[in-house]
Amino acid sequence: MKCPYCLDSFHEQWTSQTNFVQDAERYYSMRHCLCPACKKAIIQLGKMRIGGREITYELAYPKGVSRAPLPPEVDDPVLVSDYKEACLVLADSPKASAALSRRCLQRLLREKAGITPADLSAEIDEVIASSGLPASLAGSLDNVRVVGNFAAHPTKSKSSGEVLDVEPSEAEWNLEVVEELMDFYFVRPARMQKKKEAINQKLQAAGKPLLT
Ligand SMILES: [Zn+2]
Repeated sequence: MKCPYCLDSFHEQWTSQTNFVQDAERYYSMRHCLCPACKKAIIQLGKMRIGGREITYELAYPKGVSRAPLPPEVDDPVLVSDYKEACLVLADSPKASAALSRRCLQRLLREKAGITPADLSAEIDEVIASSGLPASLAGSLDNVRVVGNFAAHPTKSKSSGEVLDVEPSEAEWNLEVVEELMDFYFVRPARMQKKKEAINQKLQAAGKPLLT
């Protein structure tokens, strides 16, 4: 996981509290870990429906996840607005956050990867099949469907922006993938262009052919 304070990635080892609270609908529990890098405590609240089998966890403390500031190269105002909103509501409503980040994914794929608009799952297939993404990024994108369990929730693909129940870690995973895709489609090409321009200035001064 990514530490909500310092954003360092680490393999978390949770300590669960055995005490739990129960009401008519659910059991509530708590688990915590320390970030090995910044040594701060991360506390999650667990919920399980009575008769249910799966506990879902949400971040209880700190309240929100610090995320790296958006690089200035990302200049699509619609994408930036949806992404910021998805980060802002993550702690209080992972459902709303996941709906917004699915919309960000779809916009990135349509505007930057140039795929044929379809449902989100088919769009992901098309991008992966086009071999336009590095293998690790294609794998991360593919996992959006796995983590979100699209097989059981087809509406996530058909109406990507709809607010629907989330799977554990789905909202966070979507944001990770949106960030990776923004880096790939906005940041890397802009930085490569700057480097090329700097080299071309030197080549021009030396009277050599320029890079195109
Ligand atoms: Zn930390």
